[in-house]
This record gives sequence, C-alpha cells and structure tokens, in this order.
Amino acid sequence: MSKRESKNKKNQNKKKTSPKVIYYRDGMTVSDFAEQAKKPVTDVIKKLMFLKVMASKNQVLNRENAELLAMEFNMEFKDEVVTDVTRFEEMKDKDNPENLVLRPAVVTIMGHVDHGKTTLLDTIRHTRVVSTEAGGITQHIGAYQVEKNGKKITFIDTPGHAAFTEMRARGARITDIVVLVVAADDGVMPQTREAIDHAKASKCDIIVAVNKMDVPGANPDRVKQQLADLGLLPDDWGGEVPFVEISALKNEGIDELLETIQVVAEMKELKANPKREASGTVIEARLDKGRGPVATILVNNGTLKVQDYFAVGSTYGKVRAMTNDLGEQVKEAKPGQAVEIIGLDDVPQAGDPFKVFDDEKTVKDIADERHDRMFEKEHRGKETISLEDFFSKASGDTKELALIIKADVQGSIEAFKGSINKIEVEGIKIEIVGTGVGAITDRDILLAEASNAIIIGFGVGVPASVRGIANEKGVEIRTYRVIYEALDDIEAAMKGLLDPVFEEQIIGELEVRETYSVSKVGTIAGCMVTNGVVRRNTLAKIVRNGKIIYEGKIGSLKRFQDDVKEVRQGFECGVTIENYNDLKVGDSIEVSAMKEVE
Ligand code: GDP
Repeated sequence: MSKRESKNKKNQNKKKTSPKVIYYRDGMTVSDFAEQAKKPVTDVIKKLMFLKVMASKNQVLNRENAELLAMEFNMEFKDEVVTDVTRFEEMKDKDNPENLVLRPAVVTIMGHVDHGKTTLLDTIRHTRVVSTEAGGITQHIGAYQVEKNGKKITFIDTPGHAAFTEMRARGARITDIVVLVVAADDGVMPQTREAIDHAKASKCDIIVAVNKMDVPGANPDRVKQQLADLGLLPDDWGGEVPFVEISALKNEGIDELLETIQVVAEMKELKANPKREASGTVIEARLDKGRGPVATILVNNGTLKVQDYFAVGSTYGKVRAMTNDLGEQVKEAKPGQAVEIIGLDDVPQAGDPFKVFDDEKTVKDIADERHDRMFEKEHRGKETISLEDFFSKASGDTKELALIIKADVQGSIEAFKGSINKIEVEGIKIEIVGTGVGAITDRDILLAEASNAIIIGFGVGVPASVRGIANEKGVEIRTYRVIYEALDDIEAAMKGLLDPVFEEQIIGELEVRETYSVSKVGTIAGCMVTNGVVRRNTLAKIVRNGKIIYEGKIGSLKRFQDDVKEVRQGFECGVTIENYNDLKVGDSIEVSAMKEVE
C-alpha cells in the first residue's frame, strides 16, 4: 500500500468515527443512541433534559424523541433498514408504486366449535367453478382460492384457532380478514370470544357470519346484541362490523358473504408487487414418503417460480415443482396464492418465513446462520430431565412438562397434541416446545437439552449416533407405537409431579392406665395400645368423657426404659405429650398421622 493510499484509508476511517446519520429502530435506548452517535451518554441525557424529557440511559426512546435528539446533534435521522439477509423476514420490500397491484385478501374462518366453520369452508370451496382440466378433484394444501365477480379470495383451509395462534406465535401475520362464525341458535360462546381476541390482537378486520339461519331456533338479533356488547357493533346498527346471515349447510347467503369479504378487502387496498422475487409464509409442511419434505407456501409478495432458490425458516431449497389447490402443476404463483412446493432440504414449520434469493450458496448460508441463531436463542442452559424424575426435579411452583414430539406423519402429532391438551392435572402445564415429522435427529436432542424437554417419538426411529448424543447430554427419548401408551405414561408422570396431598388419618388408639410425674420430663402416661399403632412425632388427641380436650404431639415413646419408634396394639408403653402434663387415668389418646392421598 502506498503512503497516499494508507493516508486515504486513515481519512476514511476518521470519517466513519463521526457519523452523520442516526438509524432508528424500535426499542432503541438512550445508550444505544449515544453509542451510535459516538457521544457520551451524559451528553445525550442532558440534551434530552433540554427537550424536557427525563430519561435514564436504559430507557427506550420513542421515534419522535430520537428524531429531536438527532436534530440537536446536527445529524440526519433515518429508520434503520435491515440489510442482514439472515433476518429477511424483517426486511421491508421496497416496491415502486407503479408495480403494485391489488392482491387477493387472505381470510381465516374462526369461531366456536360446532358453529359450522368446516361446513362453511366446504361450501365455499364448492362454489368455485371447477376447471375442467383438473377434473374437479381438489387437493387439500392448506389454503384455497375462490373467484367471485372476477376477483379472487384466498381462504386458509384450517378451521379453528390453533393454526392461527401458532402462526401468530411465530410472528407470521398472513390473515387480512377473519370471518367469525357464530351459530344463530347458540350465540356467543367461549371460543367466539377467544376468536375476537385473536383477530383484534393481530389487527384483522372481522366479518361476522351468523350461521345456521335455517334452524328453527335461529335468533340473529340475539347474536348481534351479544357481539355488540363485546364491542362488535353491527353495521346495520350504526357500527362498523358487517354481519351476514347464512346457512353453510343449505348454501344460503354464501354469495353475500363473499361479496362482503370483497368490499372489506377493497377498502383495505391490499397490494403487492408481482414483479419481484417472492416472499411468503409456510402454511403447512410435512414429510411425504415419496416426495420428501413438502410445504405449502402462501406468497405474500412477488411471484414464486419453479427453479427459484429460497430460504425458509432455518432450512432452504430450490422449487422443483409446484401444485395449486386444484391439484394442477403450475409454473408460478402470484401474491395471495398458496402452492405446495417440493425441493426442500428439510421440513419447515407452519408460520416460518420464506424468501427467494439468487443462488444456492446464499440460501444455504442463510439457513445455516438462522439455524445456529435459533439454537442459541432456545438455549437456556437448564438441567435435563426424564419422565421418571420429573416429580423430584419439579420443585417449587414451576410445574411444567416440556415435550418435543416427533412422528412419521403430521396426523399423529396433531392427534397427540389434541389428546394431551385434554389431560388435565391441576397445577401442571404441558408445553410442546417442538414438533416435527421424521426421525429423531441431533437437532432435536439439542433443542431438548436447551429447553429441558423430553422427546416423544411415534413410529420413528432413533439412529444409534443420535441415541449416543442423547445419552451424553442426558436427554430422555421415549418412543411409542401408539399414542395412548404415551398419554398413559405422561399422565402418570404428571400425577407424580403434583405436590402430594396429605390427609390426617387415625393410626392408633391408647388408653391411659397410670400416670407418673417426673421432674424435668413432666407427666408420663402408662398406656395400653388398644388399637393400631402409636409412633413418635405423630399427632395426639386427648379424649376425656367423649370430648377432645387437647390436641398435640406425641413427645417421647418408651417401652420399659427404652426409647422406641413405635408400639403396636396389645402392648404397653410410656408416653408423653408435648407441652401437656394434665393426663388422667381413663383418658384415651387418639393417634393420627399425615398420610399422602392419591
Ligand atoms: P366446526 O366445529 O365449527 O367446524 O363445525 P362443523 O362445520 O363441523 O359443523 C358442526 C355441525 O353443525 C355439523 O353437524 C354441521 O352439519 C352443522 N351445521 C353447520 N352449518 C350448519 C347450518 O348452516 N345449518 C345447520 N342446520 N347445521 C349446520
């Protein structure tokens, strides 16, 4: 390097040390700001005081104050742009407005059990004009589209709240509109409320479908009143929530419901750019015996094409083939559309983010990095655990049984989850920290170690090498062929887990035949054990003339001169009662002990 070059380099370095721009991000603290601005924290705090903001160094700055601060320091202010491709789900797509086009709304159907969610999904599915090539055979891929007046709507094909919550827990927000199904003959029920909470929390619009209008006892006004009381004021009552009266079973009101969805969608102006590389979300994924890992991807933005390289969750792949909801092979998928893809390296999880990149090396590197990070995050350095020693280890209030479920088919996982949630043992919570289709791998062991979990496998093998790692790490693996056997084991472990419940039980009875007063010791009663047994440190009730006159503890217990632990029925013994010296001949002593009850 020439002198000049090295000088230039120095100058460049110098420039870097006094930044001109502050990049703001959510959760930025006062000291984060100071660090970025290369200013002493005290200076930043002083400036804030000047702005009449009293803040300590660990306090989070809101955007407005951060901007004012930047101005005070004569710096430019910008929002941080995530450029780290391994955090691709946080990266905001910058699209030229000219390229943005309306995309179909994504709709999830929620509501109380038996109010007709599945029936409604089926009925809507049948309203679409079935294309002749597909021969009318539809395929379940986790989402389907219908067309109404030339515009499409995408329905997530999993009724119930579990899928929705699971996705939300993983940070995925794919639903635009929630159709809340309420049976007109049943009204608002617990899961109706739960659905409203979920929809509100994820900022979805709600459309109420008052279902089962064909049933004689249908009372839509009652449903309206109940929902109005919960803050969902019907539009025909002056509120903002559309209510549509339907019969999912009789296919009545479905057109109106679809039209209402389109009206709401239009107001939301849902747009995407089909001219860019695709990003999306996993809706479902499984291991197919013949095809390997398959996943249904809902495209959020861009166009997904066959041959595209992608990163998804903590794995990656190349789209080898795509199938739409009509079972047709397609070459590309547009925003708002769901397709099942093959060509993944591993099975991702529902809710995992998906993004297309240029080449194989990029997606592989991203997957590796994300995998390591996920690991670190989950690693909490806890003790390992086994089902047997659950009771002894779970001390204190934390009664949580963490499980990782692996199975040969997704159905077993769902079935197991469904049943395990029904096992109710008071005071214990089951937490499923991971699930997956396929053999138990070293990754599962690491996750189990990190989250202090037990691995439960159904119909899956454990390679010897993996078994070895598990032993080394002290992770317990239990494999079963049938679900109920696993459930039995877990239920038993959960019961053992509970703090034992004790109950006072009478174990013996004594009759006082003589009394002696001994200095320093007090009154010793010479007794006959008339029933059961008496032990040291058990509870004693002194009964005189049929009344309990004193309750205390057996102090010393002697046979002749010797201290003994217990004396059985038919033997004589000398007994003292702690802190009680008023024993009389003829008294009886009821002896009881605390016994654990099942
Ligand atoms: P989910 O648990 O919410 O998915 O409810 P389902 O779709 O499984 O429906 C529960 C029951 O209600 C089934 O027996 C359906 O046939 C019935 N059902 C659903 N919609 C209607 C409807 O509009 N009218 C009547 N009479 N029955 C319905």
